[in-house]
Amino acid sequence: MLTAFNYYDPEEEERVRRGIKENPFFRKELALAEAFSLVHPKHGDTLSQCLICGSGEMHTFFWKWGVQYLRCEHCYSIMADVDEADVKLYASLESLKTIRSSKEYQEEGAAVRRGRWEEIVDWLRFRSYRYCGKNQGLSVIDYGNRWTTFCEMLEHSELCGVYYLKNSILSREQDENQGQAELILAFDYLQQVQNPKDFFQEVYESLAPQGLLILGTKVGSGLDVLLLRENNKNVFPYEHILMPSKEGLKILLEGAGMELLEFTTPGTFDINYVRANKDGIAKEDYFMRYFMDTATPNAEAEFQRFIQRAGLSSYAQIIARKKMA
Ligand SMILES: [Zn+2]
Repeated sequence: MLTAFNYYDPEEEERVRRGIKENPFFRKELALAEAFSLVHPKHGDTLSQCLICGSGEMHTFFWKWGVQYLRCEHCYSIMADVDEADVKLYASLESLKTIRSSKEYQEEGAAVRRGRWEEIVDWLRFRSYRYCGKNQGLSVIDYGNRWTTFCEMLEHSELCGVYYLKNSILSREQDENQGQAELILAFDYLQQVQNPKDFFQEVYESLAPQGLLILGTKVGSGLDVLLLRENNKNVFPYEHILMPSKEGLKILLEGAGMELLEFTTPGTFDINYVRANKDGIAKEDYFMRYFMDTATPNAEAEFQRFIQRAGLSSYAQIIARKKMA
């Protein structure tokens, strides 16, 4: 078993501890996402095929703010039924961009995350050396990174020779033609991708032979996603429109000509999160309701350990390599 590196977002833990109301930024982001979703429900035909495996066995998983989430019975992935035009509109929403690129937002995020980011940069160097035999001066493409400090830490680290930021709200003057990269990063990016097959194809084409893709994503096969459904405060449209399962990720990677090297779910907080949102467990889920009502702290810790080791936590880290043509 590979040692899991803990990249679980500490801000989520903070939110649970302090209560959602004490984080004004998150409350604003949530309100904007809700307002946008309510006026952009899907019109037209319901999504009938899984965007990952193509199966027609799609069942309603939940509705939130007028948006339907479907779950594929074949590959277990979860996706929102939304229009492409609306996804683009949400990604370019000025009100959200203004909050997220503000000095206050960036400073608050950096204060909570700086230590984690330092660990990530070290971990990336460790992993790239293991799989590429090289951990400095790499050409890197970073998808969707919206933290100025994290971008700077990556760019100025020994890991990166050339650093190219793509599809981010942070505007940067950059050369359009960045060439092929040795390393592609996509942390918390896949959740807003509507056409995952196109994204993985783009990644494949942008990678040098034997290049690595390292991504972090919320997964539809994770404990709190499956237990809390629409009551999960950390899953909402249009911020999260795709939550592939472990199986779904494998299908996407292999379909694009990539080889999965590592899949870990390092989360240590799922069970605490579920406990904090216990009322969100479905009434019919008698086992989990009984467990959450009666489990000792020791039993909860054992359960979390099992969830993490079995790859059933709701945040996954994936390392994949482009296969030789
Ligand atoms: Zn599927």
